[in-house]
Amino acid sequence: MAGPLIPEFRGVRRRLVETLQANGIRDLAVLRAFELTPRHLFVPTGIRHRAYEDSALPIGSGQTISQPSVHARYLQLLELSGHEKVLEVGTGSGYQTVLLSHLAAQVFSVERVPELLERARLAIADSGVRNVSLRLGDGTLGWKEHAPYDAILVSAAAPDIPGPLVDQLADGGRLIIPLGDMQEQMLVLVTRRGSATERRDIAPVRFVPLLGTHGWSG
Ligand code: SAH
Repeated sequence: MAGPLIPEFRGVRRRLVETLQANGIRDLAVLRAFELTPRHLFVPTGIRHRAYEDSALPIGSGQTISQPSVHARYLQLLELSGHEKVLEVGTGSGYQTVLLSHLAAQVFSVERVPELLERARLAIADSGVRNVSLRLGDGTLGWKEHAPYDAILVSAAAPDIPGPLVDQLADGGRLIIPLGDMQEQMLVLVTRRGSATERRDIAPVRFVPLLGTHGWSG
C-alpha cells in the first residue's frame, strides 16, 4: 500500500509548498500542513502523478478536489493556533480535512454523498491522523452535538449563510463560506460577536453548490 509520506512524493510535495510560498502564502503553520498532507492519497489512482500540481482535480461523483492555493488562502483566513475545534461542511476527498487536522485540535466534517465519505474515510485513515470525526448528512444543519465551533469552513456555495452554522459558531468564531448563485460567488468571512455577526468579502470564487435544507434544493 502507498504509505502516507513515501519518499517518491516528498520532492514534489516540497515543490508544491514552494509554489504556495511564491503565490503569497506566508502562514508557516499552513505551509507545514501542506508539507505533512499526502495529497496523492486523495485523488483517483489514475491521476496520482498530478496530485502535487497546484490545480483542481476530479474526484468522482461530479465533485472536484480544490486547487491547493485556494485551500491555502481559505485556511490562512481562519488564523488557527492549533487549539481549536473546527467544523468542515463538504468533506469531499478529505484532503482539506487532513490539512485542518494539522492546524486545529479537533476536526468534525460532514459530507452528504455516501461514496465520497467512505473513500475519504479510508484516505484519512491512510494519512495517519487521529483527530478527525466524519459524519454522513446534511452539513447545512451543522453538527450540533459538538458545537460550539471556533471555526467553520463551508466547501460548497450557498445562496445565504445557513442559520444553524451561525448558531453553532462560538463567540469570536470565524465562518468561511462562498455566497452567491450557482455560477459565481463571493468568499465571505463571517465573525460572530455575541448575537451579531460581522461580514467581510474576501474574493470572487467558484464552488460546487451546497445542497440541503439551508442550501440549494438538490
Ligand atoms: N474540500 C473538498 C472539496 C469539497 S467539494 C476537498 O478537499 O476535496 C464540496 C463537497 O461538498 C462535495 O463533496 C459535496 O458533495 C459536498 N456537499 C454539498 N452539499 C453538502 C451538504 N449540504 N452537506 C455536506 N456536504 C455537502
